[in-house]
Amino acid sequence: MNLLYANDVAGAYPPSWYAASTPALAPFAPLQGTIQADVCVVGAGYTGLSAALHLAEAGRRVVVLDAHRVGFGASGRNGGQLGSGQRVEQDTLERMAGRETAQALWSLAEDAKALVKGLIETHGIECHLRPGIAHTGSSRAEVADLHAYVDLLQSRYGYGDVSALDAEACRRICPSPDYCGGLLDMGAAHLNPLAFALGLARAARDAGVQIHERSHVQAIEQGSTVEVRTADGVVHADHLILACNGYLGGLAPQVSARVMPINNFIVATEPLGDAASRVLTRDIAVADSRFVVNYFRLSHDGRLLFGGGESYGYRFPRDIAAKVRKPMSVIFPHLADVRIDYAWGGTLGITMKRFPYLARLGPNVLSASGYSGHGVGTATHAGKLMALAIAGESDGFATMRRIPTPAFPGRGALRTPLLVLAMSWYALRDRLRF
Ligand SMILES: Cc1cc2nc3c(=O)[nH]c(=O)nc-3n(C[C@H](O)[C@H](O)[C@H](O)COP(=O)(O)OP(=O)(O)OC[C@H]3O[C@@H](n4cnc5c(N)ncnc54)[C@H](O)[C@@H]3O)c2cc1C
Repeated sequence: MNLLYANDVAGAYPPSWYAASTPALAPFAPLQGTIQADVCVVGAGYTGLSAALHLAEAGRRVVVLDAHRVGFGASGRNGGQLGSGQRVEQDTLERMAGRETAQALWSLAEDAKALVKGLIETHGIECHLRPGIAHTGSSRAEVADLHAYVDLLQSRYGYGDVSALDAEACRRICPSPDYCGGLLDMGAAHLNPLAFALGLARAARDAGVQIHERSHVQAIEQGSTVEVRTADGVVHADHLILACNGYLGGLAPQVSARVMPINNFIVATEPLGDAASRVLTRDIAVADSRFVVNYFRLSHDGRLLFGGGESYGYRFPRDIAAKVRKPMSVIFPHLADVRIDYAWGGTLGITMKRFPYLARLGPNVLSASGYSGHGVGTATHAGKLMALAIAGESDGFATMRRIPTPAFPGRGALRTPLLVLAMSWYALRDRLRF
């Protein structure tokens, strides 16, 4: 079973609130016949579309191939949180790689946020971008950690957009009985992720990128030029960019040994009307401190968009709404019986160290993936960094490679059971809070 087709209808967006509420782009024709390009990009999520857009703006002839639609993957389905920093916290990065590298990675992450905001503004992308993410804790220890992190970001990284929330301030914003403090980051933001992906696709198309949907890449041949094959066509290109993230499958074994697909789930409730103020009193997003993070925000039509629950392996659970209702009812007991209008899942890529895997797979083949739940900024930025690397400016790309990415233990069929075991252990620790 291929992840590209395990849970979805070929060539169709999943049944998400985003797909239901976001104006679609006219379909792009599948690849037919043989064509030439300077760069062929496989995957039309944030990584691939951003790479393509930046390459086209630099004068390259670019072809993008996607097995389904632009923004079909995680980019069109996610929680829409544009977080600060890398996925890995700065103090952990300092321990992993030293202060200087941690500082350089913080600066790149700030560039990533600015890039997303800048692309939205430059290309007039209507995706309801709003400032503010709160990170909440459910225990005194979690809140103390978050407050210590505020101190670190303010004192060592000079980041002034973040502030500590005590229990009262936290509940004024998010009246959940589960949370007792946290931090508020007004430099972070949230948006409609599918609208952002479609806006990037439109900008890429207008910059001259040739996009083909329903064009599943089945084989790649590397050499002084690359040959990329779909069922009905071939692209010959000087460079190849792999931007498939959790949906990569076996196309590049070096990447799939290091980037593991996992599934995550979101629901959209019915519009909450006046009850929305018992969820959030401000138009910000929230992510909590659990190992399997609960994250949520209100849609612009007053629904609760709540993400929580993970699964490992190919198949989504049969009843996604029931799976997400469980953590949602812990955070908001008064919504235990609320109607759920949309429930969907998506596949993302994780690495052993939770730091993305940017790789040079050959002299003219680049790949970026494995952003965990932190791809809105990081994937968009990784696409730009690969475009710059092809133009010969590889400083940013090289800095992102300073954190090594080990392969997951186990091979082939054994790898997923090992991951399930490890993840279940951490999730259990979380539930028992030790
Ligand atoms: C439920 C969920 C919630 C998330 N929440 C957040 C969040 O709030 N904030 C955040 O920052 N990140 C979040 N993420 C992570 C984020 O969405 C991803 O890291 C990011 O979208 C990855 O972008 P991408 O372009 O690399 O991959 P994707 O968007 O997954 O795109 C990969 C594309 O490659 C195509 N493809 C794969 N193989 C082939 C092939 N052989 N031939 C042709 N095409 C192929 C697929 O069809 C797909 O369209 C979330 C992810 C999920 C699933």
